[in-house]
This record gives sequence, structure tokens and C-alpha cells, in this order.
Amino acid sequence: MTRPSLHPSYLFLSAILVLAVSAPCEGATLVHAGRLIDGVADAARSEVTVVVEEGKIAAVRSGYVAPGADDELIDLSDMTVLPGLMDMHVHLTGELSPRSYLERVQFESADQAVRAVAYARATLMAGFTTVRNPGDDGKATIALRKAISAGLVPGPRIFTAGKSLATTGGHADPTNGLNSRLRGDPGPADGVVNGPADAAKAVRQRYKEGADFIKITATGGVLSVAKSGQNPQFTMAELEAIIATAGDYGFHVAAHAHGTEGMRRAVLAGVRSIEHGTYMTDEVMELMKQRGTFYVPTILAGVTVAERAAIDGYFPDLVRPKAAAIGPVIQDTFARAWKAGVKIAFGTDCGVGPHGDNARE
Ligand SMILES: [Zn+2]
Repeated sequence: MTRPSLHPSYLFLSAILVLAVSAPCEGATLVHAGRLIDGVADAARSEVTVVVEEGKIAAVRSGYVAPGADDELIDLSDMTVLPGLMDMHVHLTGELSPRSYLERVQFESADQAVRAVAYARATLMAGFTTVRNPGDDGKATIALRKAISAGLVPGPRIFTAGKSLATTGGHADPTNGLNSRLRGDPGPADGVVNGPADAAKAVRQRYKEGADFIKITATGGVLSVAKSGQNPQFTMAELEAIIATAGDYGFHVAAHAHGTEGMRRAVLAGVRSIEHGTYMTDEVMELMKQRGTFYVPTILAGVTVAERAAIDGYFPDLVRPKAAAIGPVIQDTFARAWKAGVKIAFGTDCGVGPHGDNARE
């Protein structure tokens, strides 16, 4: 696979098409496209008209069809039009900065939601019309998804996990690194589980809140204030309870994983995707192929955290060495997984890097 080399005009256009589709109009919307990549044919088509009726693409006609009296014309005859792009891993509620660790205790959920509105717009205007949001504070992207669906604010179609599931002290324990007055003892409602009963309850809690799928942190992570970025963090019994309960509610499960053992357990338990997958061995790749597990490599996040680890004071002391070590490995793992024939989905982890940079090379 060659990485797509996208001129900015490509990205902008798919966003324009989405905005045009959502605009109320009596007649049809005609888009005159100088070139059209339709996502089906191998070659681009030249000089075509995309006909949009009632929010859906009704036809693609050869040549530039003249608009009727009630039709709206969008003239992109000197540009290339393509379907909206998809990013399977973004976090729309934040953007990493040296202030991020302080903002964890300063920001309300409302602060995250308001920022998410701006980041969703940036994502759409970069050409990404569908995103998967694997984890936030549990509320903000569910509210954002509703507002975008209602046409109140512009943004991509969102599939969100709501609050990620972790074990105590695990990568998505929201109280890692806080002092004992603030730490408390979070449980399934906050996405923290210990034992199969908790695990099932946490999945049901996400259903109640309106999540679209379940995200678990199967191993340690780079950016959490904890020592290991790789250790396995769920028992097999906990993973099986999550997968079985998720299945009952129509959820798929996405697993954040850097270390090999946690990744292996998650694949065996039946997760749909491995996110990051840094220390993925040949054995794990073979298991993923057998089970049809997707790999979402998030190469861009690996590059970004390694760049920032070089800046003094950017990360807390516990985080910096993890960012320096894990970040650069992901690209090699992606190359090996691709050659091995593992199914790969595109994901950036934007929110680690800036939103709107989803297509950055
Ligand atoms: Zn992520």
C-alpha cells in the first residue's frame, strides 16, 4: 500500500460536498467535478456531474449537466472530488499540550464538549466525514454526535465509545497521578473495573449512556501518569466478560494495546481491533489473521509523541521515557503487519497531534 498523497484541495472538497448535502434545497444539488475518484473504480473519471437529491448522491453523470431552475450548482470543474475519508481513531475532546495534565483537574466536561465542537469542524474541513472516537470523559462526544446528527453544528459522523474501560491504575483510569484527595476509588460508572461482574456492569453502563462501541485499555499506555506503557491490564476472565456482554448489546470492542501479552489476550478474547499495536509479534499477527482482527496503527501519534518527548518539561517524568521509546516503533510494526497480511484500518489518534492534521504525511 502506498500512503495517499493528498493535495489540500482534495480534502477540502469532500467537506464541501458534505456541507452542500446538508443544505436545504428544493431541487437537486449538482456538483461539476473536473475529476472524480469514486472509491470503486481504479481510475479517476474526468468531467462528471454528481447529482445530490434529498441529502443522498442520486447519480453520477458523464459531462457537465446544466442545472434546472430549482437546482443548486457547485462548480468544482477545476478540482478533484472524492468521497469523505474515515479516521478510525480520533479523540475530539482535547488536543495534547504541556497544559494537558493540569487541564485534567481544571476542565469540566462542558469545556471538553465546547472544544470538541471546534475540533469536529477542523476534522470535517480536512476531508474526514466519518470518525471513530475511542474514549473521552464519557459524555462529551455522545452529546456532540447528537448535535451533529441534528444539524446544529458541522462535523463528521461520529461513532463514540464514551468512557474507555480500564482496571484500577490502568491506562484509562481517570484518576491516575492525582493526589489522594482527588483519586477516590472509581468504579464501573467511571470505566474502572476489577473482576468480570464489574466488567459486565461497565459495558452496560456505556449502553445506558449511548455509546456506539466499547474501548478497553488492554495494556499500559504512553500518556497516562503510570510507570509501564506495556503491561497487560485485564485478566482473561475480565476480557471474556467484556466481549460477551458487548456482544449482547451489539457493541464491537476496540483494544488499545502496546505490549505483547495484553494484545494477545485481547485478540484471543475476541476484540474487533487492536489500536497502536506497538510490540506486535509474528505470533499475534498470525492470531489476528485467523480471527479477522483489524489493526489501527496510529502512526501519526507515535511520531508526534516522540517529537514532543525531545522537549524538556513537555511531559511528566513518568511519561517522557515511554513517549520516546514507544513512539518510533509503531511505523516498523505497521510495515511488518502489512507484509504479513493483517487487516489494517486508517487511524491517527488526532488529539495527540492537532485535529485537522489527519492526512498529514
Ligand atoms: Zn487514542
